[in-house]
Amino acid sequence: MPKPKRINSKALVAAALEAQRRAVAPYSRFKVGAALLTDSGEIITGANVESASYGLSCCAERVAIFKALTDGVTDFRAAAVVSPGGVTPCGACRQLLIEYATDAVLFVADSRKPDTIRRFRVRDLLPAAFTNIPPVLP
Ligand SMILES: [Zn+2]
Repeated sequence: MPKPKRINSKALVAAALEAQRRAVAPYSRFKVGAALLTDSGEIITGANVESASYGLSCCAERVAIFKALTDGVTDFRAAAVVSPGGVTPCGACRQLLIEYATDAVLFVADSRKPDTIRRFRVRDLLPAAFTNIPPVLP
């Protein structure tokens, strides 16, 4: 399928907003939604999930990436993340994004003011990223 010519950032943010509604955040109540856009136009979403054992909680971005990867989807073109205040992804999510969506653009929006969308390049978010690990086995 041909690549879409332009990335519809508003549509991707809208998908992330829909995902945000399904966040499971009973402890922090800080709900985050994420959406990934593939080269073929498919959108995969995720939302944060919290556990009573806080360290087991997982961010929306990683939920979306894990969903996509385990469904065999790897051709990420763009990502969107929405949250109250429009925070940028945490370090752990930046690591996963740089590994699996290196050339993607990232849209970040405040879920209370989603018409204002900040745009980043994934590759700019984690300078000197932990990538290109040399093989250790013979
Ligand atoms: Zn994160």
